[in-house]
This record gives sequence, C-alpha cells and structure tokens, in this order.
Amino acid sequence: MKNNWSKKIAKKYIKKYKKLGFSKDLALRVYTTRLLGRNKELVLHGGGNTSVKTSIKDIDGKKYNVLCVKGSGWDMAMKTKKYLSDEDMVSFQKKNLINIKSPNPSVETFLHAFLPFKFVDHTHADAVLNATNRSGGLNFCKKVFGNKVSVVPYVMPGFMLAKKINEVYSKNPNINCLILMNHGIFTFADDAKEAYNLMIKYVSKAERAVKKLKSKKIKQIKKFSTKFNVHEIAPIIRGLLSENKDQKFVINYRLNKHLKYFINGKNVRSYSSKGTATPDHVIRVKPFPLVITPKKNSSIEEFKTTAKKAFENYRKKYIHYFNVNKKKAKEKKVMLDTSPRLLEI
Ligand code: ZN
Repeated sequence: MKNNWSKKIAKKYIKKYKKLGFSKDLALRVYTTRLLGRNKELVLHGGGNTSVKTSIKDIDGKKYNVLCVKGSGWDMAMKTKKYLSDEDMVSFQKKNLINIKSPNPSVETFLHAFLPFKFVDHTHADAVLNATNRSGGLNFCKKVFGNKVSVVPYVMPGFMLAKKINEVYSKNPNINCLILMNHGIFTFADDAKEAYNLMIKYVSKAERAVKKLKSKKIKQIKKFSTKFNVHEIAPIIRGLLSENKDQKFVINYRLNKHLKYFINGKNVRSYSSKGTATPDHVIRVKPFPLVITPKKNSSIEEFKTTAKKAFENYRKKYIHYFNVNKKKAKEKKVMLDTSPRLLEI
C-alpha cells in the first residue's frame, strides 16, 4: 500500500489551520485522517475513525485536555467502570461534548481514549480483514504481523471492547498496533506521521501475506439467460422494498467483473450469507443479502413472482435473526425495518 504522506502538504495544513485558530495537532490529525479516508481499501464510507488527544481553550480562557474523535471532543476517565450499556455510553459521551453541535461520538470513542497515545488511527482495511476473517485467522495474524502487534479476538464494538483493549495494552505496553479479529486495525503513536506510517506498514504486510495464499476458485453457473433487462426489474424491486408508503428506497445498480464472478457462483446463497466482514458492514447492509435467482429464461412477470416470494422469505429470516440474537443482548433491542439493503440477482 502506498504511503501518501507529503511533508509539503502537511506544512500547508498546519499553516491553514493556524490561521483558523487551531493547533498543529488538530491540523495534522485532519491531514492524516483525510489520507486514510480517501483510500477505499482502508475504509468504507463513514467507517473507520481517528483521534487526537490535545488541549483546547474554552471561552473562560482555561485550557482543557480533550479527546477529539472525528470532529467530536470530550474529557476522559472511565477505565475503572465494569460495564456500560451502549445507550448509557452514548449519553455519557454526549454529556461530555465540548461543542454541543458536534455529531454523536463514535462507539469506538472509549477505545481511542484508553490508548495512551496522542494519535490513534483506526481502519477496517480490506487486506487486514482478508487476514483475520479466515479459519485459523488468529494464528495466521500472529505470524504475519510480528511482535509489536497484539491480535485481539472478536468483541462487539462498544464499552466492553474498549475494556478488552485496555487490558491487552496494559499487558503489552510495547505494541504499536492492534489487530482486531473480524473488525480491523488500530495503529498509534505520539506523532501523526508515525501513526499513519504504521497503518500503511501493517496493511502492506497483510497485503503481501494474503497474496501468497492460494485462493479457492468459485464454481460458476454457465449459460444463464432471462428475457428481461435490468431497468425493467428496478420498479418491481423498489415496490417490494417498501413496507409502507413512508419507506422509499433508491436503488443503485452495480456490475463489474469481480461482482459477476461472485454472484455467478453456484454456491452464492451459502457464501454470501456467512456474515459480514465487519460490524461496520452490518450497519450498512444488514447481516445477509437477499439473493433472488430468476428461473431460466423467465419473463418479467415470472421474475415478479419469484422476487415477491424471495422478499417474503427474507423478511421472515430477518425477524428470526433478530429474535434469536436479541436474547444474547443485555439491553432491550429494537428491531429495524425488515427490508434488505443488498440484493444479488
Ligand atoms: Zn471499527
């Protein structure tokens, strides 16, 4: 993975932010966050997060130590707490916002707070997920990333994950990176450039290691045809997606050679429903896609019937998924709508 740090641009950021009244820390935090955010192989839209621990002057003229996480800031000291529900955590974070107009701080805010470094970078890099999300992934990662890295088994993002990270870091204070199984990577340093360099270094390590592995070929469906075009099915799908008149969806159609290879696999139903790559994906695409397999040479009318049935089954499956998993949660959970977000046809 290419390291895009530029001394010249970093200086420009410092100058620009100084004029606006912000510190060098914040300027460099914005700069490397943008370097990471721009790279689609590192973060999904809205995913990943970065932070800086710095100080700001409040209107009373006093300096306060703050943690800035993707635009939000708050004070810190929560390590001794045994348990905190997601709801309580969000409200605690909101109460401690420096600027009440800030967006809600990330669920990973505490994790940033507990790592004692000025700059903390976190991404859900494709190559890292490729290394973690495989059978034997934990041992594979231990070998790949080396002794300055701790590999952490999966814990759902939230306060308990932050506690786990705190525990791991306290035992191994020499590390400069954390690999979170089925989730992503954290790198940290007291210098913005160093934290960014570490991110690129470890993601590159993952890229090289995964490249060396032999990947299984996906058996393809051959000679498949239908009697309708994509634009004809769009209104049908939109209609089926909406459970009521207030629920309106926009469909984005995509196809490229990689997607074609994935969707035309004989076992697409099985491997595409194994679960998402990260918890971040669940928020955006739900835990599994809706797979619609039109009958051979089917007309648009026949497709309509097939799709209707597939939607009914999906909604039932989603309700079942929710009911099974809500029992595992400590707090009361509210089910989202049952419409799919990702369709494979
Ligand atoms: Zn994350």
